Amino acid sequence: MEIRIVRNQNPKQKPADNELGFGKYFTDHMFVADYNPEKGWHDPRIVPYGPFEVEPSCMVFHYGQAIFEGMKAYLNKDGEAVAFRPFANIRRLNRSAERLCIPQLDEDMVWEGLRTLINIDKEWIPKSKGTSLYIRPFVIATDNSLGVRPSDTYKFFIILSPVGAYYKEGLKPVKIYVTDKYVRAAEGGVGFTKTAGNYAVSLYAAEEAQKKGYTQVLWLDAKERKYVEEVGTTNIFFKISGTLITAPLNSGTILGGVTRDSVIALAEEMGYTVEQRQLSIQEIYDAHEKCELEEVFGTGTAAVISPVGVLNWNDNIIEINGGKMGEFSQKMYDLITGIQYGTEPDKHGWIEKI
Ligand SMILES: *Cc1c(COP(=O)(O)O)cnc(C)c1O
Repeated sequence: MEIRIVRNQNPKQKPADNELGFGKYFTDHMFVADYNPEKGWHDPRIVPYGPFEVEPSCMVFHYGQAIFEGMKAYLNKDGEAVAFRPFANIRRLNRSAERLCIPQLDEDMVWEGLRTLINIDKEWIPKSKGTSLYIRPFVIATDNSLGVRPSDTYKFFIILSPVGAYYKEGLKPVKIYVTDKYVRAAEGGVGFTKTAGNYAVSLYAAEEAQKKGYTQVLWLDAKERKYVEEVGTTNIFFKISGTLITAPLNSGTILGGVTRDSVIALAEEMGYTVEQRQLSIQEIYDAHEKCELEEVFGTGTAAVISPVGVLNWNDNIIEINGGKMGEFSQKMYDLITGIQYGTEPDKHGWIEKI
């Protein structure tokens, strides 16, 4: 596969590492490929990052046929650019594509596009501790049509954004609001995909929770409003009497996180029992009552581990581990980030050099 390269003649000034935040700055280049039924995916190219033209009738604006991924590249301790389990993300992109009637992407095209792009913009990978280069591959439907049907044409992009250390002041546990009023995903729907609409539907509940002083919403299952599913854009784990419990993936309502999968593998290696099963919010509150609820944490690419300090379910407010980050959460955060930055051995072959 030949990737055409058009260099940016006006490279931007790079922001300072302490100003990065999340997803605010973009590098000098982007990867683009087009799809039509005659040629399939074609014309893979790297061009200057910037606007592109589409018509107002472009299908993605109307019916949301759009999917994305989120992963990171790191500079390891030897100054090499590496990615964490990138093929897990590429395969997940194709699972999302299938469900949204978007043609499958060639895994090699995505990986080669990503590698070439990151190597061209390598200077954009920030160097300070905890920083990384966030990678956002995405596909949009591009037919100009108002008919409700799958588009015939698509565009695939990869854009890059240098991001700051998620936790500037250490891992501060967040306050989470349990909602039984709104739902994120129902069985038979698209909860297991990273499709744009899943995030649009989550905003209203998250805003309501934020007005009450909470960082995010904990979603319950759509049918019974009983079993815990996810928090915002992270999977969620509960440590009860030494056992780790997280929602199973078989309902199709949960995004199968790469971080979730990594935490399960590493925890089992450490000798913990990990149960992937339905866990009711009542069971969690009962465990808290019996002083058996030890830790609660979210897992996702952006934060890696996001400890939960407070839960509010119908104004029953409980504090977990004295509102402090738990021992297991800290250990897991240190281990995964250590593997990512190359200070811990990569026993699973999760690190790919870029
Ligand atoms: C992306 C995402 C996650 C976390 O997935 P990772 O692969 O660990 O980053 C969890 N839940 C939702 C809803 C997500 O969109």
